[in-house]
Amino acid sequence: MRLSQMLFVTLRDDPADAEIPSHKLLVRAGYIRRIGSGIYAYLPLMWRVLQKVSQIVREEMNATGAQECLLPQLQPADLWKESGRWDTYTKAEGIMFSLTDRREQNLALGPTHEEVITTVARDTIRSYRQLPLHLYQIQTKFRDEIRPRFGLMRGREFIMKDGYSFHTDTESLKKTYQDMYQAYSNMLRRCGLQFRAVEADSGAIGGSGSTEFMVLAEAGEDEVLYTDDGKYAANVEKAVSLPPDATASTYTSYQKLETPNTETIEKLCQILECSPTQVVKNVLYQAVYDNGIIVLVLVNIRGDQDVNEVKLYNELTKLASTYDANSIVGLDVPNVEAQSKWAAKPLPLGYIAPDLSDDYIKGGSVDSKFLRFVDKTAVELKNFVTGANESGYHVVGANWGEQFQLPELVVDIRTAKIGDRAVENPEQTLKSARGIEVGHIFQLGSKYSQAMGATYTSEQGKEQPLVMGCYGVGVSRMAQAAVEQSYDENGIIWPLAIAPYHAIVTIPNIKDTQQLEIAEKLYGELNKVGIETLLDDRSERAGAKFKDAELIGIPYRIVTGRAIANGKVEIVERKTNESYEIAIDQVVSTLQQKIDNQLN
Ligand code: ATP
Ligand code: MG
Repeated sequence: MRLSQMLFVTLRDDPADAEIPSHKLLVRAGYIRRIGSGIYAYLPLMWRVLQKVSQIVREEMNATGAQECLLPQLQPADLWKESGRWDTYTKAEGIMFSLTDRREQNLALGPTHEEVITTVARDTIRSYRQLPLHLYQIQTKFRDEIRPRFGLMRGREFIMKDGYSFHTDTESLKKTYQDMYQAYSNMLRRCGLQFRAVEADSGAIGGSGSTEFMVLAEAGEDEVLYTDDGKYAANVEKAVSLPPDATASTYTSYQKLETPNTETIEKLCQILECSPTQVVKNVLYQAVYDNGIIVLVLVNIRGDQDVNEVKLYNELTKLASTYDANSIVGLDVPNVEAQSKWAAKPLPLGYIAPDLSDDYIKGGSVDSKFLRFVDKTAVELKNFVTGANESGYHVVGANWGEQFQLPELVVDIRTAKIGDRAVENPEQTLKSARGIEVGHIFQLGSKYSQAMGATYTSEQGKEQPLVMGCYGVGVSRMAQAAVEQSYDENGIIWPLAIAPYHAIVTIPNIKDTQQLEIAEKLYGELNKVGIETLLDDRSERAGAKFKDAELIGIPYRIVTGRAIANGKVEIVERKTNESYEIAIDQVVSTLQQKIDNQLN
């Protein structure tokens, strides 16, 4: 492609709304244009990158035996009602765009395709002989994200590869899951990304085991905790660890003490001269289930620990059926306004004890009892300090089974932290890194097949629900993540495998016919052997052309400048900034060899 004929507009300044380097660079270098919040146009250079990423994804998927298809983006609401996710996705999370058609039928723009694929499977899979089966597609997804930002990283319209596998049993599912683990690792490696596979929370998709693929970068929205021995890595949402040991309590008898102005653990520990590890902290949450029932949750946890809201959310989801509900639609620490709706009298905030009476709850749509959880860290404590249910007072020397009844629901809902010891090997401590989640693979089990009646007939002639897995990778997010991992002060440095072009021939002075002729010749020859090459034949200053070539991040620049007097051209490698002269007739073979070495 000739730059003189291409839509090629680079900007000198960073766009005002861009916060992270990759977003700034992709806009400045003319790869993307913002059309609306979380909505971008992929300009020709970006589209080439996206197609290359897609092709790598496709090759790795095909190599596992998965088959490509294309499912509709418009999805009838009925399917989502069958799976039980319509309300969660349109109201609770509100992530799904929905609309009403001229026949007053509800439709949604697909944020994901479990419902559609399960319908396809229900209609087409009859027998165990058709299994296992794995279908995938590469397609634009729509999600009404709360905070679209960072360009393509969190868009409201983005490209995803989503695959769904069907099995007779968990063993077969595990095999495909393992194949996907390998395929995803291959894709990321081939795209030139530094990544880590981590244990993950399964979130609203549901199911059991799941792994996220994190591209390591400071701008990542996720925190990964890992050990240096490489044996443990998990998203902080899911991570488990051993907390530091608690300090033994200095109190030997139970008493109530006046502790004015000690609403926080820090102030309390200062006044009592105790360690936060001796304190039982009581945190109040308000959960809203999809049937409108509000449940007040009281969590007892050790004073130095924090509640992990994802883990809490999962515990509450497990209990949904006890409240005749399917799912959670909201979870918050209730503010004053929220409290005023259900509190029968002012709460002793900052001084709550584990036995806070249910009398504080007025009733109405609020369940009349606190749902009481105790985190494992608080269970072992002896002679602990905790609130007295009275403003300005705490109790010390308290014990479970004496002054306070231990809640029946003992759970792990603490947030693992950097520096904690690893569960499997306490000699290893957890380190922390930021990551961009680019892929997520799940073992779904039969959640959707059961809800939607997708069954097959087993070898024994029994009708059974299909066992499912699902596997997603963000194609557009991954392309931008590559930039986030690879740039310098002059611009993008594309990994060769996903660069829009491998090389750019820059003519310093297009009025110089010799420069022009040699450049044209090289441009033709390089493209002919499959080295994707741009020709900068614009009538710009040489300096501006070099700057642009660096900004857009093309791996090899070939300059038909002064060296041509000696039958040579200059080659500049974008990544290392190394430059050298080579004979004009060696250019094609030299680059071909370099490129082949890297791509194979
Ligand atoms: P996140 O936690 O970042 O919102 P998710 O858990 O919602 O991601 P999945 O539903 O597992 O993501 O989707 C699969 C992949 O699609 C993700 O790993 C990510 O790469 C990509 N993806 C998800 N949401 C977006 C988005 N808003 N913009 C761009 N890519 C996205
Ligand atoms: Mg999401």
